[in-house]
Amino acid sequence: MTDAGQPTPPGAWEQRWHPLREEWVIVAAHRQQRPWTGNTVAAPATTAVAYDPGCYLCPGNARVSGAANARYASTFVFDNDHPCVGADAPREVAVPTPFYRAAPAVGAARVVCFSPRHDLTLAEMPPAAIAGVVDVWRAQTRELGARPEVRQVLCFENKGEIVGVSNPHPHGQIYATSFVWKTFEIEEAASARHLRDTGRGLMADIIRAEQLDGRRVLHEDEHVIAFVPYFARYAYEVYVVPKRRVAHVFDLNDVEVAALAGALSAVTVRFDNLWRMSFPYVQVLHQAPTDGADHSAFHFYIAFHPPLRQPTLLKYLAGPEIGGGNFVSDTGPEAKAAELRAQAPVHYRQT
Ligand SMILES: [Zn+2]
Repeated sequence: MTDAGQPTPPGAWEQRWHPLREEWVIVAAHRQQRPWTGNTVAAPATTAVAYDPGCYLCPGNARVSGAANARYASTFVFDNDHPCVGADAPREVAVPTPFYRAAPAVGAARVVCFSPRHDLTLAEMPPAAIAGVVDVWRAQTRELGARPEVRQVLCFENKGEIVGVSNPHPHGQIYATSFVWKTFEIEEAASARHLRDTGRGLMADIIRAEQLDGRRVLHEDEHVIAFVPYFARYAYEVYVVPKRRVAHVFDLNDVEVAALAGALSAVTVRFDNLWRMSFPYVQVLHQAPTDGADHSAFHFYIAFHPPLRQPTLLKYLAGPEIGGGNFVSDTGPEAKAAELRAQAPVHYRQT
C-alpha cells in the first residue's frame, strides 16, 4: 500500500539490476506523487533569435579570448577558452605528501557549435544537419584519440540552464584526457566479462530484452534502436544504440550515421513535445578508450540523462546517489516511456 492507502501498482516498487554499471537501481514509482513543498524550477525561456550579437558562439562573433568565430555555415569546433585539461597545463605538479598522486592535466578541451543558428537545438535541426554533428564527433574522436597523451575522448552536451549552461546557443563539449573515465571503465569491464562468459555482446542482450518487451522502445529501424532502459536511473533516461557493435563513433559507416541522426532527432523531438518546452538533459557518447588496447567488447551508444521528472521538478541527487553511489528512481521506466511514445514525431514549434 502507498502512504495514501492506494494499492501499489506492480513493478512500482522494486530494485532493478543495471547490467552495464553492475549496480542496483531502486525503482520507487509509488513515491512519485508524494507531497512536495520544496523549491521548483522555472520552465526554460524559449530563444527566439537566430543570431545574437552578444553570443560568443554565434558565427563571426568575438570570444573572451579575443579570437573571432569563423562565419561558419554548419558546425564549428574551437579550443575551449577556459579548458580544464590542455597543453598549457602545468607540467610540474607538486604532491604534498608521498601517499597522494597527481599528474599534469594534459589533453584537450573543445567546444562544438551544432549549428550557426542561435535558436536551433538538435530537436529542431533536420536529421541531415544532426548527421553533420555526428561527423564532427567522428573526426574529433579520431583526431584527439590519436594523440599519444590521450587515453579517452569524452563527447557530451549539457543542455539547459538547469544543468548549468547559461548560453542557449546549441553546443556540445569534448574532453580528451590522459585517463579513462570511470563510467566507461566499468562498462568496458562488464561488457568484456559478459562476452567471455556467454559469447554474446552485453548491449546485444539488452537490445534483445528491450525488443522482446517492447514497452520502452521509442524508435527503431534497421541500424539503430532508442529506448528507456529497464534499469533507467533518471525518469526520462534514453539510450540511442547502433545495432552493430562498434567501440567508437568513427567506426560507424555513413548509413549508420544517418540512422543515428534520425534516432537522435526522434528522441529529442519527443523530449521537447512532452511539456512543449526546450527539454534539458545531459547527453553523453559512451565510447571505448583510445589507448590502442583491444576494446572489441565495447558497444558504442549515446545516453540522455534528463534531470527533470516533472516540468518544474528536479531529480535531486542526494544521500543514495551522492553518498551511496546508487540511484533511487521515483518513476517507473515503463510509464515514462509510454509518455514519450505518445508524443508526435514532429516538433511542436514546426506544426
Ligand atoms: Zn549564438
